[in-house]
This record gives sequence, structure tokens and C-alpha cells, in this order.
Amino acid sequence: MIARNGRLKIAIQKSGRLTDASVDLLRKCGLDFEFQRHSLYSPCRNFDIDLLALRDDDIPEYVQDGVADLGIVGENLVRERGAKVKLLTPLGYGYCKLILSIPVKSKVTSVEKLNGKRIATTYPVTLKQFLKANNLKADIVELSGSVELAPALDVADAICDIVSTGTTLRVNGLKPLATILDSQASLISNTRAYTDKSKRELIDRLMIRISGCLQARGKRYMMMNAPVASVERLKKILPSLKSPTIVPLAENDMVAMHTVVAEDEFWDLMEKLKKHGARDIIVVPIETIIT
Ligand code: ATP
Ligand code: ZN
Repeated sequence: MIARNGRLKIAIQKSGRLTDASVDLLRKCGLDFEFQRHSLYSPCRNFDIDLLALRDDDIPEYVQDGVADLGIVGENLVRERGAKVKLLTPLGYGYCKLILSIPVKSKVTSVEKLNGKRIATTYPVTLKQFLKANNLKADIVELSGSVELAPALDVADAICDIVSTGTTLRVNGLKPLATILDSQASLISNTRAYTDKSKRELIDRLMIRISGCLQARGKRYMMMNAPVASVERLKKILPSLKSPTIVPLAENDMVAMHTVVAEDEFWDLMEKLKKHGARDIIVVPIETIIT
């Protein structure tokens, strides 16, 4: 099946950890829509795309089957569902890991020692693949939620669950043993939509915008004035996408220098630049970078 009315359909999580960041990303791409998590469709006014609000668990299959052309969902779910979709790009949010954990007091010291033990999880497919790849045999106790309680209830000796900060593990007296999968939110595509001429045109346009937003994320545009005599020294201090832009000023022997810097380094950089002759330093946010 392939959705046809000349418009793309993109599935995003209706309500959950990925929802706000997904809506923000699409807005940053210039899409104008009102997102209503209670209505299935949110049409976009200025781009041929409609948002489809779904449970995250359903997104991989719906994209695979063409109910939606595109989807934003955690790689963890794409893998668990074994969905045949095209992974277009990781999106840099929704970071988490699928981790094997054991009670703090457990005698298990390595993954090999899980042989013959019971492991509770909501990710049976991914866990089974991991056990097979590591030549291990364990009983998989499939649960639909609250996996972290399984050892305390003596339902399992270990758990395999999604973790981001590890707080839930600690609170439940558990500690990590091994990481099975690193995951983040990703843009996925239906394979036929990706090869359909008119859909592909829209997908490519959207991808250029998304890549621009991802490039700009965590970056700032920095402008400063400096005496010509300091330029060579300042150039050595300044990182840049390519090289800094240098513009002469009306004031003799002065130039303006512009460059792109990473958010987490601009404070240090600013101090160094000031010490070496830069003044009137201005740092502004960047919306997008199209290279
Ligand atoms: P839904 O109602 O849509 O089924 P859910 O409760 O299953 O929602 P969320 O907890 O909102 O799902 O998680 C959505 C996705 O966020 C996960 O599939 C995963 O990719 C990512 N994620 C990031 N951090 C965590 C975490 N600490 N726990 C669970 N998922 C996380
Ligand atoms: Zn879910």
C-alpha cells in the first residue's frame, strides 16, 4: 500500500517522550501546522505533508505497510518490530539504551553467567537476537511493562529494559550488566514511497530542511570586531565551518570577523578571543545551515 493524494504522511508519537521534540523539529523545518494529539491528522498549511499522531509502538509497522510514508520513532522499536523500512537519518534526541541489568546483590558477574537464568523484558525479539549472537540460553519472561519490578517479585533474575539516566534502575536496586543497543529517535521511510517519484521529491525537500536543522543544532554564530594586526592570531583560535568571514570596517585598520562555533565552547573561546584583541563580540542562535 502507498498513501496517494499527492501529500506525504508523517507519523509521530501522539503523546510521550518523543512528541515535543518531533513537533519542534518539524516546526523548525518551516512546517506550519497545529498539532492536535487527540486528532489523528494534523494537516500542514505550507508543505504537502500531514502529521499522523500514533502510539510509538505502531509507527514501525504503519510505515512499513504504507499507512504513513514517513515516521519518527526510536531505533529501539524499529529493531524490535523487525520493520522493513528505510532508515533515513538519526535525529539527535530520544537517546536511550537497551540494557541488561541485575539486582545489586546478584552473583552474576558477566553476561555469560546469565545462561539458564530468567530475563524479564518488553523487548523479546531484540533480546533473543542478542542471546543467540552470544551463544546464550536463557528464559525470556515477556512482560508488557514495569519490567524493573520483576527481580523483586522473583519473576526474573535479570531484566532487559530501556534506560536513559539509570535512575529507575538505581531506585529498584538494580545495576547495569551490558548494553544491547544504543538508540535515538530516527526518521524512517516506507520503501515504496522512497522510490515513488513525486513522494521522493517531497521527502528530499524535507530531508534538506531536517539536515539543515540538525547541522545548526548546538551551534552559534559569532561576530566580533578586531584590529587587522590581530587577525592572524584570532584565525588560529577560531574554529569554523570553513574559514571565518573577514569584512573590512569603515574604521581604519579594523575588521569584522564572523564564524560558527559550538555552543559548548563559545564561552572559553570568547575569553581567549578577547585576550587577543577581539571586541564587541556578539553571539546569536542559528536556525539552520544548508551546506
Ligand atoms: P506510547 O503511548 O506512544 O506507546 P510509550 O510509553 O511506549 O508511549 P515513551 O515512554 O514515551 O513510550 O518512549 C518513547 C520512546 O522514547 C522510546 O521508544 C525510546 O525510543 C525513547 N526513550 C528515551 N528515553 C527513554 C526512557 N528512559 N524510557 C523509555 N523510552 C525512552
Ligand atoms: Zn509505546
